[in-house]
This record gives sequence, structure tokens and C-alpha cells, in this order.
Amino acid sequence: MAHDTQHLPEETSGADRIVRAQKAAADAGLDALLVSPGPDLRYLTGYEALPLERLTCLVAPAAGEPFLVVPLLEQPAAEASPVGGLGVEIVGWPETDDPYALVASRLPSAGRGLRRVGVDNHMWAEKVLAFRDALPGVEQALAGEVLAALRMRKSADEIEALRAAGAAIDAVHAAMGDWLRAGRTEREVGRDIADAIVAAGHATTDFVIVASGPNGASPHHELSDRVIQAGDPVVVDIGGTMPSGYCSDSTRNYCVGEPPADYPHAFGILLAAQTAQCEAVRPGITAEQLDAVGRELIAEAGYGDRFIHRTGHGIGLETHEEPYIVAGSSRALEPGMAFSIEPGIYLPGRFGARIEDIAVCTESGGERLNLTTRELRVLAP
Ligand code: ZN
Ligand code: ZN
Repeated sequence: MAHDTQHLPEETSGADRIVRAQKAAADAGLDALLVSPGPDLRYLTGYEALPLERLTCLVAPAAGEPFLVVPLLEQPAAEASPVGGLGVEIVGWPETDDPYALVASRLPSAGRGLRRVGVDNHMWAEKVLAFRDALPGVEQALAGEVLAALRMRKSADEIEALRAAGAAIDAVHAAMGDWLRAGRTEREVGRDIADAIVAAGHATTDFVIVASGPNGASPHHELSDRVIQAGDPVVVDIGGTMPSGYCSDSTRNYCVGEPPADYPHAFGILLAAQTAQCEAVRPGITAEQLDAVGRELIAEAGYGDRFIHRTGHGIGLETHEEPYIVAGSSRALEPGMAFSIEPGIYLPGRFGARIEDIAVCTESGGERLNLTTRELRVLAP
């Protein structure tokens, strides 16, 4: 899988992203986008705004100049952030003013050019309802589809940021033998891993799953006080967010001493399935076809009802975003899309196994961003 991401679109400035969002909004029949703090705002402006009860909101009319409404006390922080360099007007609102009325006063009124607005999918309900009151007669819709369509086709710079995130989480997996031992609890091991995720260059640790022995059969088991035993297979699924805002997520499988007799067979099936899925990544394959590549191999081996989740999720400024690699999705993959490939086999009461890489669809195939060995790593007990 070659690095041929140089064919991806040139990195675009935040201002270009806002223009593209405005055009996509117009195409979707939205007269304006209202984007509050979160990954959509960070994508469009570079501004990592605090999610506060006070309103911060990018207002991007389908036709017209975008502007950013911020509490007056946040205005210096906003101007110091990348949004300050975009040429987007920053409108500070004094503490006792009504920021929703302010937004409404700067938009055309209902029926005169403003019929339908898109609100970002993570906007707080209290803000959505305040906008509903401030914009009477204006229909509200989710902006998520419009913004996801932009965010899931990543630029070369975004792929590079994900590649750096992959390398950072790989460094943590590579050192797992330092922490994962019989006689320690999952929680103790998890604390060490969380520290290592930050030491490896992440700004934050987002999640740490250390699922030992029978706990491995629960895909989202996190940490418990269970003492890891000799002979336990252990699923370790970890991720964080880099200073760039881009996320990592990788799962590897360890055994403290020799695994149970029936483990290697199940693990071998899983490894073959995950490998086949990674090799099947290419432009044009649909999400459901990619899911089926692994699911069929696992089912043929008799574990079909033990692979109990979708194959994967998109990743970028959020750990879980579009595109989802799931049965029923006919979305065709395109160059620049980045997503996890993480099939699993779960045997209740016994053990589980999951192998997870982040993969990028390139012009000619796929590139894996997690490069530590996918084989079972047997650690000294
Ligand atoms: Zn994961
Ligand atoms: Zn994942």
C-alpha cells in the first residue's frame, strides 16, 4: 500500500472550507449554517472554542458573508486563534445582550431569503431551541450531512496529521510489555497506558480498553479491578487526540504467557479477515462490501454470530465520524477517506479478540496508518 496521497486535494485554508460549506449548504437547500463549538467549528475555522452556555456560533449564510458571534469576553481568544486570520468578521456580544436576536438581526427574515437553517449535529438543545425562538417560521435541519461530506474527504495535510497520530499510538503498543503483566489489575495497566499515550505526543488520552480474559468478550469493556492472570488473552484498544486535533485509535492483542488451546485458531481467522479487508480498500468499493469481505471469512469459519459489531468508523477530528463501514451502507469509498478496520470475535465467558488499524483510501488502494505487528504478541507473564 503506497503513499500516493500526493494526488489528494491541496490543503485548503479555513476560509476555503467555509466557502465550500456555504456552497454545499446551498446545494442542500439550507439558507444558512449555524455552527457552535466542536469539531465542525474547528474544521471550518481552526477555532477550538470552549463549549460554554454563552453562545459562540459561526453563521455562514448560503449567500452572503460569514461571521462569528462570540461572547465579548471570548473575543480576544477568538482573535488569537486561527479564525482571526481568516478574514471572517468576529462579532462580540456584551454579557447582557441576546446573542440569538443578534444573529437573527443579521440574517434575512423568514420568508425573505431565510426558510431553512442547518444547525451542527452537536449543538446543545438549549441553543437549538433559542434559535428556533429567535428565527420564527424558519425550519431547522441538521447540518451534519453537509459538513460530513466535506470532512470525510480529507486533504493530504489531514492524512499527514492522522499518520502522525497513528505513529504515536503505535509507539504505545510497541512498549506494552513494560506494563502488561500477570498480577496487575487492568486499571493499573490502564493508568500506565494513559500516561504513555500523552508521553507519545497526544494532547489527551481519549480511551483505554484493557480487556483481559473473559472481559475481552465485551467489545467496549474499559478497565476493571480484575487481576490479569497468566494465560489471559488481553484486548488493548487505545486512542488519543493529537495537538493537531486529529485522533488515533488502534487495537492489538496480547497474551500474558501461552494462550488457551482454542485461541490461536480463532485469532488466525480474525487476522486473515482483517488483513483481507485492509487489502480490499480501494476507491469505489462500498462500505458494505468492505464490511462483507471480513464478515464472510469469519462466518465461513463458524464465528459469524461472534462478530457482533460493524467493521469500522471514520476518524479525523472525531474518533467516530463518517464514513461508517457497516452493512447497509452503499457509500462508495473515495480517496482521502480515513476509517478504522476492526473486526472482532467474541466468545462470552472465554475471551475476545479484535484487530484495529486506521486505513486511508488512496487513488489506487489503501494505506494502513498503524504499523505495529498485528500478530498475537505473547508477553512474559
Ligand atoms: Zn478502537
Ligand atoms: Zn475504533
